[in-house]
Amino acid sequence: ATTRTSELLELSEARTAHNYHPLPVVIEHAEGAWVTDVDGNRFIDCLSGYSALNFGHGHPDIIAAARDQLDRLTLTSRAFVHDQFAAFCAELGDLTGKEMVLPMNTGAEAVETAVKVARKWGYDVKGVPAGQANIIVAENNFHGRTTTIVSFSTDSVARDGFGPYTPGFTIVPYGSADAIRDAIDANTVAVLIEPIQGEAGVLVPPDGFLSDVRRICSENNVLFIADEIQSGLGRTGDTFACDHEGVVPDMYLLGKALGGGVVPVSAVCADTNVLGVLQPGTHGSTFGGNPLACAVARSVVALLNTGEFQARAKQLGAHLHERLGKLVGQGVVAVRGRGLWAGVDIDPALGTGRDICEALMRRGVLAKDTHGSTIRLAPPIVITQEDLDHAIDMLAEVVHER
Ligand code: PLP
Repeated sequence: ATTRTSELLELSEARTAHNYHPLPVVIEHAEGAWVTDVDGNRFIDCLSGYSALNFGHGHPDIIAAARDQLDRLTLTSRAFVHDQFAAFCAELGDLTGKEMVLPMNTGAEAVETAVKVARKWGYDVKGVPAGQANIIVAENNFHGRTTTIVSFSTDSVARDGFGPYTPGFTIVPYGSADAIRDAIDANTVAVLIEPIQGEAGVLVPPDGFLSDVRRICSENNVLFIADEIQSGLGRTGDTFACDHEGVVPDMYLLGKALGGGVVPVSAVCADTNVLGVLQPGTHGSTFGGNPLACAVARSVVALLNTGEFQARAKQLGAHLHERLGKLVGQGVVAVRGRGLWAGVDIDPALGTGRDICEALMRRGVLAKDTHGSTIRLAPPIVITQEDLDHAIDMLAEVVHER
C-alpha cells in the first residue's frame, strides 16, 4: 500500500533539483526533540537542522517572539530603521563582546561578508596592495555553498564543476598552528576556521590550537575569523566553541541557531576597527536584519543569556560522550566532539553512514551521516536525558546487530 510518505517522497523527487539525498521521512509536526511524520510515526531528532534547532522545535519563547512580531511588522529593508534593530545589535554585540553586528540571513552570506570585510580591512587598514589580499583557510572546511566559498573547499563533490574559482585563499591542514604561521605573508589579511569542523565529521582540533591561532594572528596583524555558525550558540557546552580555550576571535560568524529554527538569521560580529571599514553601498541584503529576524534572534540571545542551555549541553554532552565511548570497539571505531555534539565513526564493515542512519530511522531516531562512515549526533539541547539515552540505545542496537 502506498503511504503518504512514499507518495510525497516521489512527488518531491520529481519536482526538485536533486542537490540533497534526504532520508525517506516526511515530517509534518514537531515539538522539542521529537518530530512526527505524515503517517503518524514519531522520531527523536538527533540532527537539529544541523544545529539550527539548538533550542528544540517550537520553543515557546521563540515562537511567542515570532508571533508577536508577525502581528506588528515583518520587513522594512535596511532603507529604513525598525524598532527591533538597535536592541538586536546591542544584545548580540553584548553576547559576543563585540562593538558591532552586521546581520545577514544565511551562514554562507555571513562567510561571504567576512571575506569582503577582511579584504577591505586589509586594503584600508593593513595596507595590503590592491587586489593582493589573501585569506588562510583549513583543509576539509565547510563554510557554505556559494561560488567563492566552494572555491576554497577541498571537498571535490562540493567544488568540482563549479569553476572558475575565486582566487585569494591558501589552504593549510586543519589543527596545525605551525602550518598557519608558515602560510602567513605580508598580504595575509585573515585566518578563517571552524573552531570545531562540523561537516568534516565533528573534528576537534588539538588542545591549544585556538589559542595558538589567536596569538599568531595578533603577532602578524591578521584577523582571526571564527566560523561559529554550527559550533556556536550553546552546542558545545559554551556560548561559543572558542570559549573552551578562552579565545576571542576578531570576527564571530553566527547563523543557524541564531534564527531559532524559525527564520534564517546570520551575523558577523566584530569591533569598530574591523566592521567600520564598510560604508553605505559597499554591502547589504534586503532581508538581513529584518524585524522578524531581529525579534526571533533577540529571544535566542535571551535564552543564551540565562546560561541554562550551555550548562545543559555540557552536562548532557558529558553523558553522551561517556556512553558513546563505551561503543568504541563494538562497531564504533572512534568518537569525537564536544558538548552535545558528536561525530561517530562506524566500522566501515558494518555499512556506510547512510546505512546506519536508515537503520536508526527505522528505530525512530533521525541522524545524518557526514563523510563515509561517520554519523553526526546533535540533538536539540532541550532533549531529556531519557530520550538521549533511548537514541544512544538505538545506535548501540543498530551497530550490534549488523
Ligand atoms: N559555516 C559552517 C561552519 C556551517 O556548518 C554551515 C552550514 O552547515 C555554513 C557555514 C553555511 O550555512 P548556510 O547553510 O546557512 O549557508
